[in-house]
Amino acid sequence: MARFQNKHVIITGAARGIGFEIARQFAREGARLRLLDRREDDLAQAISSLQAGGTDVTGVVVDVTKRSDVIAAVHAADDDAPIDVLVNNAGIAYETGFLNIEEEEWRRIIDVNLTGAFFVAQAVARKMVVRRRGAIVHMASKNGLDGESGYAHYNASKAGLVLLTKTMALELAAFGIRVNAVCPGYVATPLAAELDSAEVTTAFAERYIPQERVARPEEIAPLFLFLASDDASFVTGACLTADGGQLAGQKPDRSTLARLGYSV
Ligand code: NAD
Repeated sequence: MARFQNKHVIITGAARGIGFEIARQFAREGARLRLLDRREDDLAQAISSLQAGGTDVTGVVVDVTKRSDVIAAVHAADDDAPIDVLVNNAGIAYETGFLNIEEEEWRRIIDVNLTGAFFVAQAVARKMVVRRRGAIVHMASKNGLDGESGYAHYNASKAGLVLLTKTMALELAAFGIRVNAVCPGYVATPLAAELDSAEVTTAFAERYIPQERVARPEEIAPLFLFLASDDASFVTGACLTADGGQLAGQKPDRSTLARLGYSV
């Protein structure tokens, strides 16, 4: 299956983690890629590994919080070939108690995760609107739908993205542009490894995630491809969760399952 043959796909934050896996999966389905990231070395590595597999891929070192750089990068990409798909994935996270969040940290998270996503989405949508077609997929989070202590700034940024997604979907539907979001739960990535040790992650999964494990990026990327593809032609304004069951409700512990007659 090659749903994206000759399609021009822009992905932000694609140098590593989930963004790189999304790039890999789009490449596998024939897409021509333009990767945007602020990490020069990781970006160069990501590009050469995709090129080794025969993908038509280029990259731009850009910080999504710099509006003029974002606009220049989007213009250049669209001049090369009309952009069909935007995956707005770049994001950062820090764990800090609400009472201890400093102004600088608050601003940085909102700047990258929400304002940066807005800059890229607006620049790309202004191109798509003229052609009356396109698909935009935002990387929100399960934390944009439900709180988690220690992440007030991050949760607020992702909740903002959820409503940005829905409002863009409302305004752009008449122009043939679909806008959706993916809301993953805990995914094993370099960012996650920076935030939590392996022991903390395992304990968290056992306590809170019904599937009792975290996701691999390979399990999240297909949702982006689905939402960007014609398979999702009637899907817009949606937020697809992939969270191992976390948002389904309170995870039953072993003794509850035993009382219910399950032997696990
Ligand atoms: P990661 O740190 O491994 O990768 C993020 C990429 O974004 C990096 O390559 C980084 O350089 C890039 N980036 C960060 N700030 C940028 C900026 N200002 N401009 C351009 N590029 C920038 O992280 P990840 O875990 O793969 O996360 C990717 C996205 O998924 C983020 O938006 C994150 O919030 C979201 N997410 C992650 C998880 C998780 O558990 N890992 C869960 C839900 C949502």
